[in-house]
Amino acid sequence: MNQIIINIKSFKYLALIIISLTVILLSSNTLKAVEKKPQLVATNNVWSSASFPVERFQRYTSPFGYRRSPRGGRLEFHNGLDIAAPQGSYIRNWWGGKVIKVGDRGACGTHIIVQSGNWKHSYCHMKGGVQKINGRLYMIDRAGGIKIAKGQQIPAGVRIGRIGMTGRTTGPHLHWVLRYGNNYVDPAQVLRAMYSKQAIRQTSNIRSNQRYQIKLEESKVISNQ
Ligand SMILES: [Zn+2]
Repeated sequence: MNQIIINIKSFKYLALIIISLTVILLSSNTLKAVEKKPQLVATNNVWSSASFPVERFQRYTSPFGYRRSPRGGRLEFHNGLDIAAPQGSYIRNWWGGKVIKVGDRGACGTHIIVQSGNWKHSYCHMKGGVQKINGRLYMIDRAGGIKIAKGQQIPAGVRIGRIGMTGRTTGPHLHWVLRYGNNYVDPAQVLRAMYSKQAIRQTSNIRSNQRYQIKLEESKVISNQ
């Protein structure tokens, strides 16, 4: 009789030990999973820090590629994507990099060009203009609180200007140009890649360490604009 009681007692202890071990194991697994997440995002998703370039998006008004010119009907190459938004909407830097040009002349109007590795991204028709202060060139939009110096570094997602009507344009929009090396790239493809990667990140089970290779069909060099 005594032995049975002891056995039951020790069984109880054993069960307790098993339960607490399971709890400890489970919780450490959960901790590990949580710790892994940010790393996964940083290494597997090259687009995770890229930003959509326009606030208060309305619609895409003209795609990348050949089109009939609005004036004259001549076939011309449209080297960027037109994104319409109300006048004064903020424009955001797509990808962190260095400002290699600020300008306010020509068809592009007030614009800046940012270089991020092999990528160059241009933002046209912005409000404001260029000014030289102490020998340094700036794109300045005072009402919008924007002052961008040529040569400065800017992170992804920061406000770099506002939608305006400078240069050759029939309505308020951002003319957004992407180049990889010397080739123009369709920005719509980049946006699609950005959002498909974000969808994968949200829904996928964890994949191995392999990096995603984003393949973009790069357009041929057609114009040197
Ligand atoms: Zn355009």
